[in-house]
Amino acid sequence: PANAAWYNPAALPMTLLSVQGAQERILRHLHVVDTEALPLEHCAARVLASDILSTDLPPFDNSSVDGFAVSTVDISTASSAAPSILRVVADIPAGGEANRALQRGEAARIMTGAPIPPGANAVIMIEDTDFQLRGPNPPLPTEVRALKAVKAGENIRTKGMDIESGRKVMFAGVRLRPQDLGLLAMLGVANVPVFRRPRVAMLSSGDELIPVDCPLAPGKIRDSNSYTLSALIAGVGCEVVGLGIAPDDFQVLQMLFERAVESQVDAIVSSAGVSVGAFDYVREIIEARGRLDFWRVNVRPGRPLAVGDFQGIPFIGLPGNPVSAFIGFELFVRPALGHLAGMESTARTRMPVTLAEAIESDGRESYLRAIVEERQGTHFARLTGHQGSGNLLSLVQANALLIIPAGVKSLAVGDQAEVWPL
Ligand code: AMP
Ligand code: MG
Repeated sequence: PANAAWYNPAALPMTLLSVQGAQERILRHLHVVDTEALPLEHCAARVLASDILSTDLPPFDNSSVDGFAVSTVDISTASSAAPSILRVVADIPAGGEANRALQRGEAARIMTGAPIPPGANAVIMIEDTDFQLRGPNPPLPTEVRALKAVKAGENIRTKGMDIESGRKVMFAGVRLRPQDLGLLAMLGVANVPVFRRPRVAMLSSGDELIPVDCPLAPGKIRDSNSYTLSALIAGVGCEVVGLGIAPDDFQVLQMLFERAVESQVDAIVSSAGVSVGAFDYVREIIEARGRLDFWRVNVRPGRPLAVGDFQGIPFIGLPGNPVSAFIGFELFVRPALGHLAGMESTARTRMPVTLAEAIESDGRESYLRAIVEERQGTHFARLTGHQGSGNLLSLVQANALLIIPAGVKSLAVGDQAEVWPL
């Protein structure tokens, strides 16, 4: 399969890869899933697979107020002292048809959204007439007095005023938001071309891990990455195929990988065991039926990254430490899954900040847990405490990741930097 070639060991330098270099290398070898047509009501958060061309919106000239459709020449001298009197010859509700053309001296009562009748070139609001009856179904008057003049085109929403037909209004690769679904409905797109949701297998590995609902035993810790990573995978619009906890056992591990293949997943994500040497079973199993290599990425936290494929299914192995797994996901897995899912971009918005504390770094591109607070128009960033990559609370307390570029070793109070808001 095409995806099997995504890692070529011979082409890999033994030096550190930059974050961007690793991201590009991963993306280059991933292929977008195929597409399907889905009823609009099932398309929330799905990824659009074709550009969408507009039809005229609104589709016909209509009134933007409740009032009377008029010809402006008939009321050009109207004022409250000297009203212009018009004969009311039609009543056009929203959803009604405007089939009676107005002659000189005539008006039609019209509701918001109703079509403008031929012969009218403006709508005068009810408030600007002597017909001020409210409430349900007020009777149609035979005459109405216009208390002011209106300009040609006033209170008319013309056909094509919001969007002209033939314009590209939505683009393949966007994730559909509620307002996007509304626009698709306006355009009459009942069956939407979308990318299939990728299926992603998730596996936590390590003999020390126990499920959340089991009592702790000596030497054991609870598997937290499964929960964090599953939610992250689902958040990119993928379906999670949970493989559970893999003990350091060849047979069980092999069975779990087989299950991923049987489940026809599009990618496999695992956590833990990617520091060289500790991953023997996974390495053995994957290498027998695919390829695996360890990359050293110039990033903190989460330097080790395992990438490869198992029977042609892309595999990314994240570090086990909970904070490293999270940041490794954000840096490498999110763009990879977004690409599989057909998304044009998963790039995050960066925000400029001023440092509220001095920061030491080791020269790796660093993503530090930070709290950003606004004071008098300036956003100040400080760290959430010790940056150990097992300290998940410091990530929970953070509202942003502070980015220290590669090569920078110290920053002073008041220096400028950038964050990813979380
Ligand atoms: P490893 O990547 O296997 O060297 O693991 C690094 C650290 O992460 C160790 O302290 C592990 O116990 C811990 N760890 C590994 N997997 C998980 C997990 N699924 N949930 C929480 N912590 C983990
Ligand atoms: Mg381990």
